[in-house]
Amino acid sequence: MTMKSPLSITKLLSEEFIEKNAIASNIKYGRAIYSRNAIKPIEVLNTRVEAWVGGLDGVVVEGGGTKRRVEFKALKTGLKWNCTGNPKNHQIFCKHCVALAFWLLKKRVKK
Ligand SMILES: [Zn+2]
Repeated sequence: MTMKSPLSITKLLSEEFIEKNAIASNIKYGRAIYSRNAIKPIEVLNTRVEAWVGGLDGVVVEGGGTKRRVEFKALKTGLKWNCTGNPKNHQIFCKHCVALAFWLLKKRVKK
């Protein structure tokens, strides 16, 4: 019997996932980054997504801030994320992760 494991990032992502893993302020800032179109994909695969996120002018609440590289990976244990703006051993689901998540969710809807 072949084990088919259709791991995919978009299957693991949802609005609920974002709300569960990110704090309210980061959801707000991430949404602002997303709505200003500051996501530049580097590589988009089913199980791995890498993108530049942010780098906008203005105040944080408007999505302003430094550009960071964000990576999402679909693992058997769930979605794993990494943002270069986070300390190495403290990977919060930050505003950059939120922005990329919204971007991926929107992409899925469009398909
Ligand atoms: Zn970040």
